[in-house]
Amino acid sequence: MRAAVLHAFREPLSLEEVPEPRLPADGALVEVRATGLCRSDWHGWMGHDDSIALPHVPGHEFAGVVAEVGPEVRGIRPGDRVTAPFCCGCGACEPCRLGHTQICERDYQPGFTGWGSFAERVLVPVADLNCVPLPGELAFEAAAALGCRFMTAFAAVGERGRVRAGDWLAVHGCGGVGLSAIMLGRALGARVIAVDVAPGPLERARELGAEHALEAGDAVAGIRELTGGGAHVSIDALGVKATCTNSVMCTRKRGRHIQVGLTSGAEQGQIALPIDIIVLKEVRIIGSLGMQAPNFGRMLQMVENGKLNPGKLVHKKIKLEEASGVLESMDKYGTIGVTVINQY
Ligand SMILES: [Zn+2]
Ligand SMILES: [Zn+2]
Repeated sequence: MRAAVLHAFREPLSLEEVPEPRLPADGALVEVRATGLCRSDWHGWMGHDDSIALPHVPGHEFAGVVAEVGPEVRGIRPGDRVTAPFCCGCGACEPCRLGHTQICERDYQPGFTGWGSFAERVLVPVADLNCVPLPGELAFEAAAALGCRFMTAFAAVGERGRVRAGDWLAVHGCGGVGLSAIMLGRALGARVIAVDVAPGPLERARELGAEHALEAGDAVAGIRELTGGGAHVSIDALGVKATCTNSVMCTRKRGRHIQVGLTSGAEQGQIALPIDIIVLKEVRIIGSLGMQAPNFGRMLQMVENGKLNPGKLVHKKIKLEEASGVLESMDKYGTIGVTVINQY
């Protein structure tokens, strides 16, 4: 099969013929029809992710058609249109048994712990648990964003954040996750304030339903004033010092800060937080990593009945051979919304 292969970090991907992934008895091979590029791919390409072994095929947000299943698979068949979360569960460990497959002890991440979807085919292990059937009319390009950014935002806003109609939701960082969070906040009836450093993403945020769009510099004061004390829920969708601190600082008393963005090089996993403010305001700090496959149902229902349109996030469609160039440009914040590979 054709795949874009990473032989050395920070070097261009090379387009090659490679062997197909070996199909385990409980797995499914999915013929990739569309796959998104996101900041996690950039982190992987930069060498920030220890789980990647070279040579490697990136790509973790995909949708496609099941080509083949192992003999133990019961619920998924060749021909099914599916996506899968970027964090696939094993189904057997304690978090998986409790239903939290996104924090599985032996999680399999296509494009990180295993070869991903910048290829004609990708493996989904424990297919009955991890393959999510797609509604018939949902385009592959739109569905590709569901398995990563959209579902990450859905879990952060709806499940961890418990955003309700009338709440103020602040979103710091208007990349793919941030813009998804804005759409979801609106769909749930929240009043959304978007924050970013660049005018392009802020404009997009407004188009997707943000009531206010603020420059990061004086966002905290702005949010406090607009909301009369702070946001009920605030999300750091990027994972740098400024977005994280602003997010914690802009919550109102007993507000919730949801950390979705992972740190990159500069922060090395550490960001200093205003602890006294967290105590005095009883701010809750909640980490959020993706969403388990079984919880996709509620999100897909909102897509089906027209409350959510993940296709709106797709900004650009490219060929597999263009992936390398897009990855390299990502550190310049040169992308708005979601770029999807749909030509292999
Ligand atoms: Zn992603
Ligand atoms: Zn597990």
